[in-house]
Amino acid sequence: MSASEATAEGAAGAGRDPAPTEHPVLGEPRLTVGGSLVESRSGALFENMDPATELVLGHCADGSTEDMQDAIEAARTAFDTTGWSTDPAFRSRCLYQLFEAMEAHKEELRSVVVAEAGSPVAMTYAVQVEEPVADMAYWAELAGSYEYDRPLPDREVFGQMQRRLVAREAVGVVGAITPWNFPLYLNVAKLAPALAAGNTVVLKPAPDTPWSATWLGRLAVEETDIPPGVLNVVASSDHLVGETLTSDPRVDMITFTGSTATGRRIMASASQSLKKVFLELGGKSANIVLDDADVASAVAFSAIGVCVHAGQGCAITTRLLLARSVYDEGIELAAEAMRGIGVGDPWDPANLQGPLINARQRERVFGYVEAGKASGARLVLGGGVPEGLGRGFYVEPTLFADVDPDATLAQEEIFGPVLVVIPFDDDDDAVRIANHSRYGLSGAVNSASEERATAVARRLRTGTVSVNGGMWFSPDVPFGGYRQSGIGRENGIEGFEEYLEVKALAFPKS
Ligand code: NAD
Repeated sequence: MSASEATAEGAAGAGRDPAPTEHPVLGEPRLTVGGSLVESRSGALFENMDPATELVLGHCADGSTEDMQDAIEAARTAFDTTGWSTDPAFRSRCLYQLFEAMEAHKEELRSVVVAEAGSPVAMTYAVQVEEPVADMAYWAELAGSYEYDRPLPDREVFGQMQRRLVAREAVGVVGAITPWNFPLYLNVAKLAPALAAGNTVVLKPAPDTPWSATWLGRLAVEETDIPPGVLNVVASSDHLVGETLTSDPRVDMITFTGSTATGRRIMASASQSLKKVFLELGGKSANIVLDDADVASAVAFSAIGVCVHAGQGCAITTRLLLARSVYDEGIELAAEAMRGIGVGDPWDPANLQGPLINARQRERVFGYVEAGKASGARLVLGGGVPEGLGRGFYVEPTLFADVDPDATLAQEEIFGPVLVVIPFDDDDDAVRIANHSRYGLSGAVNSASEERATAVARRLRTGTVSVNGGMWFSPDVPFGGYRQSGIGRENGIEGFEEYLEVKALAFPKS
């Protein structure tokens, strides 16, 4: 079967075994290279699997190193020979077209994200689909309204008055490498600001969620005036095709979201050609519940947060730090909240927890559960496969108490519905435990006194903090990590400027 036959397959829904719930999913199996929707050079395809049913949804062209090199060449040529990087008004218009195309095809995108990522459909009405569609308009607007030039006051240098200007311009060819947990959101979070800033892009999505990327390529080709080569999408079953992107000297910058281990490899590979590297990595964020907090709502923030999308989010507060005076009450409330979570078919709007992405991830999570039991932590809830959900990669909401802050459970990112509870003595102790991590992505603090909570929040070595349930998530808020949670910031003006170089110009004044 070729990619074009696979298109027909996707359109007809053929090739898909009957799933427990029938929702038509229209896949896009073709890569985007140089403004065309293409098969892989070899004609090879790989399967796209529904993690909720373990059935094959359809296929995607399996990009190879040669396909990646074609895409890089197309992006390089587009950057060097078109006016994309120098015409913000045109970029803005094109990105609005992409926004409108996403709006028009939102239902297809929704079904793709639910089917290939196993995302609860409820989440597609927020971060998984509605948010990235709306964000595209945000970046389209910013492409046109951002002040790329910043004049400095005149100044005498070596006896001559100077007019000076700081100009920001695109970095060049950007390689974007994304994970599977929020596929459409993260693809947009990378390619939209990169394109808005005037770069050309090669997007390499995770093998588990290719269509959330190939669909964007298709919309760009079919429904926008984005010039050929400005946006390329190469899906592949082989992680190492992404490595080509990180090592190729024609690529100027890598923007990556994924695990810290892969981030390290990417940084090493990109160092050969000294590329700019922007990394959004893992997290093990702490939610601190001080002794005077509203314990029920503070605890729910983590207990529900860790179950939503089966805990496959980097910024979830997966360590619940409870003041000793509210420790037992907090554990009971967390268990109660987790028992109330709907787990199962992601198409059921009542379910906030769907499957993990694949068998390997589920085994990984079970490995952590075993490590937790062996460490002496108390398993309060879960730890196994939910009843009646033997098919699909499901894991029960799982709660561990009495966890040693040094234990594997408290130190490693599990990326599953596993919450660990740790007691603390006072505010200093809470800060010490929260910061006792190689990560530094996010966090939360709760107290009846906003002043006290803020004082603690400012001491956390993390990129974002929620105070008393505050929500920082938004396209205009910079998001990213301290320490091994990453380098750079996504979103906001700070995120936009990651994709811009800085050029200083000076002119003698007569
Ligand atoms: P991963 O690191 O295995 O893969 C992410 C992407 O990198 C995929 O597209 C993969 O194909 C590619 N890749 C793998 N090896 C590569 C290599 N050597 N060179 C180039 N590309 C390579 O991560 P994952 O398992 O897909 O995603 C889960 C991880 O992502 C979690 O650890 C999570 O914390 C992290 N994550 C972080 C954020 C954030 O914003 N900080 C957001 C989402 C996920």
